[in-house]
Formats: sequence, C-alpha cells, structure tokens
Amino acid sequence: MMQGIIDSHIHRYPEHIIADPLGWAAANGEPYWAKMVAPDGLQDWADRARLLRDMDEAGVEKAVIQGWYWQRQENCAELNRWHVRWLKEDPERFIVLASAQPAAGRVAVEDLKRALDEGCSGVGELHPWAQGWSLHDPVWEEIAAMCSERGFPVCFHATETVGRDYTGKLDTPLAEYMALARRFPDLKIVLAHWGGGLPFFMLNRWTAKQLKNVYFDTAASPLLYDARVWKNAVEMAGSTHVLYGSDYPLRVYPSKQSAADMLMLRDEALGALPEDARIAVMRENALRVYGG
Ligand SMILES: [Zn+2]
Repeated sequence: MMQGIIDSHIHRYPEHIIADPLGWAAANGEPYWAKMVAPDGLQDWADRARLLRDMDEAGVEKAVIQGWYWQRQENCAELNRWHVRWLKEDPERFIVLASAQPAAGRVAVEDLKRALDEGCSGVGELHPWAQGWSLHDPVWEEIAAMCSERGFPVCFHATETVGRDYTGKLDTPLAEYMALARRFPDLKIVLAHWGGGLPFFMLNRWTAKQLKNVYFDTAASPLLYDARVWKNAVEMAGSTHVLYGSDYPLRVYPSKQSAADMLMLRDEALGALPEDARIAVMRENALRVYGG
C-alpha cells in the first residue's frame, strides 16, 4: 500500500506485570490503572513476540510505545527503564515515550531528563486529572518548557466531553489544553482519542491559530466514534494534524475481537480516510512529531 505504517499509540508492559496486573497494581499503588485493565474489561496483553507478529501482520513498521499516567513516580521511573530497554532491543521497530508524575515534585523532572537522554522521544501518555496535578503546576511548567525548548512532544489523554459514562471516564477540560497550547506555542502537543472532539474547533479561525502545534491521534477510535470520524475529523483538523494510533493491545472492537489485533482498525482507517490524507495520517505525521 505504501511504506510501513507508524502506529503512534500503543501500550506495552513487561512480563511480570502481564503475569499478574492486579497484583502488581495493588503492590505498587496504582488503583486507577487497575480499574482500567480489570479482567472484565477490554484490555488484552501482548509480549514482544506477539506484538511484533501483530505489527508485521498489519504492515506496521514502527509503533510508538506510550507510557501511562501512573499515580506514583517510582512506577514512571521503572517503566521508563523498560521502555529504554525495549528501544535498545528493537530500535527499528519502536519509538518510546516516557511517563511522568509531576505531582511527585522535582524528582519527576530529574527522572524524565534521564529517560529523554537515554532515548525516549517525548512524554506521554499524561492525564493530569487522573494523576492529580494541574497544568499550572510549576513542576509541570518546567517539564513543558524543557520539552518545548528541546523539541520533545507531549501526549495527553483527552476525554470526549459528551457521551456515555464508562469505567475510568474522567473529564479533561479541552479549554485547559487550549490554554496550555497558548502558553507554550512551540510545544508539540498530541491529544489522544481524537482530542476529545477538539478538531471541530479547528473550524474556528481564532482557535485554529492557537492549535497550530496541537495534533490529534486516533487511539481507540471505534470504541468512541463510527467510521465517519476519519473523513470528517481529517477535514476539520487538516491531514497534517492527525496521527494514526490504535491503543493496542486494547480490544477496540469488543464484539468482534476475542483478542486484540492491529488489522481491523488499520482496515477501517484505510477504507475511510480520504486518499490524499492516507500517507500523512498513517505514517508521515507520526515521524514528524515523534521523530524516528
Ligand atoms: Zn488514552
């Protein structure tokens, strides 16, 4: 179809966490994550072999391994070390981001600097409202300034502002992300999950100007929107501002998938994207934003 796809939003966990996610979460103080990956939910798990197999099957050349919005900085640091290790293991298949918990204070900045020096390409996935910090927190502002200056992107979870309630749904006020983009105009900001609907406001000329460095990824799209979203959101946001991402290994078609795969979403995207947007959305934008 084209050069390989870049999936800009997957998650990966080390085998000791996969073996006992809830036990690990209980022992390490991560109740919010435990709720999100509870066994009756949509979460699937993949070790290295399965992940690479699923990427190959779907023509995904590289995947961006997002961190998680861990509540404890110790867990950010531990998982960041895994990310660096996975990058070293398969440098041509992964781009890795670092997790951070700015509520932990200065240690979050120091740990993050180390992770970026060791090969992480940005920060994410962040969720201030799940992690309990504010976009005006001085520790966060230091991180934002550093990322802006050094060209590192930051990826935030964004929740759709209307719609049904579900496990772990926590509002992420879009006006706050807007204000952040205004305070840090050079910071590359990726808002996951179609930016919670923010692409619509790219139709507003004033807003569009403020959002020139804000990008939207498509993670978990079918759980939230029907396939018309691809064409419509790309038209509103502009094809340079949308990054294909799956949220693998989440089962994003729960009624059709017993296990996560990368094929179904890829086919939905390729079938629904306007032809002249395909290469940008499926590959080039991710390379431009996340490097690699
Ligand atoms: Zn998310």
